[in-house]
Amino acid sequence: MANVLGNTFENKYAAELIATAKAIATPGKGILAADESTGTIGKRLSSIGMPNEEVHRRELREMLFTSPGIENYISGVILYEETLYQNSSDGTPFVKMLQSKNIIPGIKVDKGVVPLAGTDGETETQGIDDLGKRCAKYYEQGARFAKWRAVLKIGNGCPSELSIHQNAYTLARYAVLCQENGLVPIVEPEILSDGTHGIDVCAAVTERVLAACYKALADMHVLLEGTLLKPNMVLSGAEGPKADVTTAGYLTARTLTRTVPAAVPGIMFLSGGQSEEEATAHLAAMNMIEGVKKPWTLSFSFGRALQASALKAWGGKKENFKAGQEAFLVRAKANSEATLGKGDLTATGESLYVKDYKY
Ligand code: 13P
Repeated sequence: MANVLGNTFENKYAAELIATAKAIATPGKGILAADESTGTIGKRLSSIGMPNEEVHRRELREMLFTSPGIENYISGVILYEETLYQNSSDGTPFVKMLQSKNIIPGIKVDKGVVPLAGTDGETETQGIDDLGKRCAKYYEQGARFAKWRAVLKIGNGCPSELSIHQNAYTLARYAVLCQENGLVPIVEPEILSDGTHGIDVCAAVTERVLAACYKALADMHVLLEGTLLKPNMVLSGAEGPKADVTTAGYLTARTLTRTVPAAVPGIMFLSGGQSEEEATAHLAAMNMIEGVKKPWTLSFSFGRALQASALKAWGGKKENFKAGQEAFLVRAKANSEATLGKGDLTATGESLYVKDYKY
């Protein structure tokens, strides 16, 4: 059936996409990003003296997913392809385990970044060529949402107009391909925190980048109600003058209000190298701010800021399995409360920043 413009495009998954995105964005819940590539998870494992073998990657993920009560704080988990097809130690597929707790399984679908020709070391993300086919396969396997990470940087004239444009249109193309195959796309234009800039620069750049993304998503006929946004928080550069938590919360909320349509159900932030406590405090601060309209859920899709202390407490040892889970649940609960505007605004803790971070 043609719509009012005579356009016959109609997504058969529309109702399901809208329901999935809304469920993930349930206030009080967020996403656990456990989709580190084999290389990145290897660095995590080596920090606790474990070799990067499938069995150990499974142990780490099993420790997180079987944390008692995880479903009270986590609505979705992003998986790496290996985990989407992997079984836990008792033979239960991880996908089934998550579904049984009412947690929606997601899948990382990008294939990492390569240099963007014509720029000074900027990047574009790969994986579009066979994306439709892969999404259909992942849906079949139980995934209901996807992640694609675009990376932009600040400083030395960056991000260039070319990088903003190319990354926005690739994200939009990814989004529409996901939706045609039943997966809710998480649109992730990550602006790295590398640099000496102040918070105002990050606010201005984030505003430009998000505006370009929503123009591209509209051009590409993406159903916004069936998407989620995963942006960086608005913060000063890792080597820049530090802004206080309330200012960061305010500028983040203001930037989003100026650029993200109210049709988008949830904004699920990446942690980007902040300490665990800092990421939580910023999330609480933006949810506490009054006088800025917030028509979407402001929540988390943290990787490092949900896993760092759990990894340390576990240390790869059987006898510390429970301690690892307890540490994970402390962070999950604190972030859940932060999405409801509750919590401590003192940002402490050990920075998890890594220069030029690769996922
Ligand atoms: P961090 O929270 O560790 O930044 O990672 C989240 C993520 O999924 C990046 O793509």
